[in-house]
Amino acid sequence: MTDSCIFCKIANNEIQSNIVYHDEQVTAFRDIHPVAPTHVLIVPNRHIESVSSLKSEDEALAGHMLAVAGQIAVKEGIADSGYRIITNTGINGGQTVFHMHFHLIGGQRMKHPMG
Ligand code: AMP
Repeated sequence: MTDSCIFCKIANNEIQSNIVYHDEQVTAFRDIHPVAPTHVLIVPNRHIESVSSLKSEDEALAGHMLAVAGQIAVKEGIADSGYRIITNTGINGGQTVFHMHFHLIGGQRMKHPMG
């Protein structure tokens, strides 16, 4: 945990958020500025800055994050209609919170292009 990281504080239950899933490795909560009817962030409980910081020993954790995203999509009722999982990485990737996270976005047909 890093003292100033907002997602560490959410995963550690130190600040309020709308948590939809939590286990020993990951926490998922609703994005405070949703861009679609379903917009959930999946984060590792342990501070990892971004995908670029992943080490080989984090492979199982990264896979677990994806699996959890898929399970949440089912719970949210968007698995059949489809969704996006996005992880912005670094400045050019548009990352604004430097604790790795997957955006799970769905509930509408996506309009914006990838670029
Ligand atoms: P990114 O720009 O990819 O780093 O995404 C960061 C996301 O975190 C944005 O979509 C923000 O709306 C979201 N966010 C920032 N602070 C909070 C918070 N306290 N609770 C929930 N979502 C947050």
